[in-house]
Amino acid sequence: MHFTEPVYRNPYWPTWPLLEITRGCTHNKCKFCTMYKGVRFGVPDMETIEADLRELAATDPHARTIQLLSANPLALPYDRLAPILEKINEYLPEIEYIYGAGRVTDFRNKTVEQLRALRDLGMREISMGTESGDDWTLERINKGYHAADILEQCAKLDEAGVRYWHTFLNGVAGTSHSREHAINSAKVFSQTNPMVVGTGGLTLFPGTPLLEEAQRGEFDPLDERGLLEEVLLFVENLECDCSFITHHTVGGANLTGPDFLGRKERIVAALRDEIDHGDMERMARRRAMKTTL
Ligand code: SF4
Repeated sequence: MHFTEPVYRNPYWPTWPLLEITRGCTHNKCKFCTMYKGVRFGVPDMETIEADLRELAATDPHARTIQLLSANPLALPYDRLAPILEKINEYLPEIEYIYGAGRVTDFRNKTVEQLRALRDLGMREISMGTESGDDWTLERINKGYHAADILEQCAKLDEAGVRYWHTFLNGVAGTSHSREHAINSAKVFSQTNPMVVGTGGLTLFPGTPLLEEAQRGEFDPLDERGLLEEVLLFVENLECDCSFITHHTVGGANLTGPDFLGRKERIVAALRDEIDHGDMERMARRRAMKTTL
């Protein structure tokens, strides 16, 4: 198999085979991310992809699921992506579920009909590192799109029947804009139909512009209590009928699970309790051990 480091595997699908159809990230400019800094975006030739598919067909001929690499493989235009999905179906005839990560901007270059055709080839689920629905925050972190783009592209995915995840990057607006980041993200996400909304807390990694800004005093990060208060505000305002994933373990209980709306009151109560009684120092120690997004 051909892989270019770093290889990111969705932790929720730990056993799915991986197939590299792109290298790196088309954007590579988010202020909090260094993941693909040393990798120039590129696309392996079809011979290389086919060689990997032959290997997968030999080792896992009954594979029903697969994860495409790398950061945003779905950025490829339809005319390049569709033949790859056709090859996956050819080599792995039992495939049902082709998953990949995508940026909001990756769907601008595809029509609803093309997205529907990709879904019919197996692209049923994607995860988007949406991060925020607040325009000030999106510009501040250099995401390269605005809330209106999220709404427009998600409407296309909904129409095409492609399911998607949103992530809310807890803490990325700093203290000054935390409230707007939480409320506006929840409001924008609530106008879409995600199957999953996930939250992960910001860690300032070495080499990121955001850490350098923090060191110069231009970015004021939230502390652990501030992060929890922001998640609480986000959850209170979120009205999506979806599953909910959070990296916060609250009072020893994981709040991750299906039926967000049915569990919302319990999640809010647990977060409030954690804000009042949680061990913030322990949370800070755990965050400091993180080495990647
Ligand atoms: S966060 Fe995602 S889109 Fe932004 S630079 Fe990193 S990999 Fe690329």
